[in-house]
Amino acid sequence: MSSEQKLETLKERLRTVADIRGAAHVLGWDQSTYMPPGGAEARGRQLATLESLAHEKFIDPEVGRLLDALAPLEADLPYDSDDASLLRVARRDFEKASKVPSKFLATFSEHVAKSYGLWAEARPDNDFAKVSAALQTTLDYSRELSQFFPGFDHIADPLIDNADEGMTVAALRPLFADLRAELVPIVEKISAQGETDESVLKGHFPEAEQLAFGLKLAKAFGYDLKRGRQDKTLHPFAVNFSVNDVRITTRVKEDDVSECLSSTLHEAGHAMYEQGISQSLEGTLLANGTSSGIHESQSRLWENQVGRSRGFWEHTFPKLQKTFPDLENVALDDFYRAINKVSRSLIRTDADEVTYNLHVIIRFDLELALLEGKLAVKDLPEAWRERYRSDLGIASENDTNGVLQDVHWFAGTVGGAFQGYTLGNILSAQFYEAALSAHPSIPKEVGEGKFSTLHGWLKDNIYSHGRKFTSPELIERATGQGMTIQPYVNYLKAKYGELYNLGS
Ligand code: ZN
Repeated sequence: MSSEQKLETLKERLRTVADIRGAAHVLGWDQSTYMPPGGAEARGRQLATLESLAHEKFIDPEVGRLLDALAPLEADLPYDSDDASLLRVARRDFEKASKVPSKFLATFSEHVAKSYGLWAEARPDNDFAKVSAALQTTLDYSRELSQFFPGFDHIADPLIDNADEGMTVAALRPLFADLRAELVPIVEKISAQGETDESVLKGHFPEAEQLAFGLKLAKAFGYDLKRGRQDKTLHPFAVNFSVNDVRITTRVKEDDVSECLSSTLHEAGHAMYEQGISQSLEGTLLANGTSSGIHESQSRLWENQVGRSRGFWEHTFPKLQKTFPDLENVALDDFYRAINKVSRSLIRTDADEVTYNLHVIIRFDLELALLEGKLAVKDLPEAWRERYRSDLGIASENDTNGVLQDVHWFAGTVGGAFQGYTLGNILSAQFYEAALSAHPSIPKEVGEGKFSTLHGWLKDNIYSHGRKFTSPELIERATGQGMTIQPYVNYLKAKYGELYNLGS
């Protein structure tokens, strides 16, 4: 067999894996949107079957032999070519996947489906006890998963690496500490001013109009509805069945105009990333976002840098007023202040840009403590309350708005799922700054409801590459430097300094 034939054989095998994963995504999407509760058990089994099938097909020794045989071809190809990138990423994935037994993955995945079902009942019932045994099992599995990757410095490192390759506890702890040191004084200064009035966001806003308005904005940003759609769910997400079918989900509160909007713009950011992946990568394992942090940077950029900017609302607010009569007599200034209200709140997904990362850092620290064995699952609800009291000055009496509020620990590993949010916030500002320095006209265009220059820059510099580059490589290529918190801190200080008269 020639190298070309071997490469084709490998690609065919990898396409089968990608197809099985795509099918699993459809089942997962249905599980979170339309499936009746009775379907949970069978769905868990079906997902486990598909995952273990994809895993077995991927770690087939023949895939390893083909990758070895193709190493000389890879070395001859330009580093950033599609084929060299596919071989490089496939080898990395193969080495990672080969270390975890299929049986372990199947058992874990079946457990996770059950745990998710329990959480969905425990959360509205404020019943942590209902799901605590399942969480303990998840914690045990999470530790076991790390042990398949010996040589780590911290038990969480392999879990973090799965979502944000190259990141470690040793790197993240100081980064988060620097950010926290910048954020805490800002939050204190703002909190000292008392609560911002957000009553202008309250009223009656019919569900159908909210769904349509959000989707129309997403479309204006560049979300392609011929290759996407929107449905309702409990915990919004975006999912890719292929580059040409990337779906978003959202949730609506009829008495609040902001929740559905921000959720839709956020998920559209994720979805545009995956719709923007080069068609040449479709059906390969490069047709996904490259890391959790980069993915989140793309959702936060559209949700916040654009979707909470003054220029954007100068253009969009009159349209919103026309759609919802309850906003008729609201001033743009009051609306702008309300959607950028900074407050010490209980719910991460409702948190503003300034306090958001404090919510993330609490979760990050608690999951490290769980993994290190320094915190027991039974003590988690109280530890949660304590950290909220000390970091945000408030705590939830119930667990529904406390430890049960986020799905992550109940639908995946404990560890690795939260750092990406804060990395995303940091990077959203770094990428936006780079886009603006390439195209200084972007803010003016956003103020006219035009987004194609920004969308085009993101597509060229981030979306199109899929997983070809690791996040450090992509950041360097797109911004000309490594990751830095400075643009994010500058952005927050400028915007909230003006909103809250903070001085310099
Ligand atoms: Zn997100």
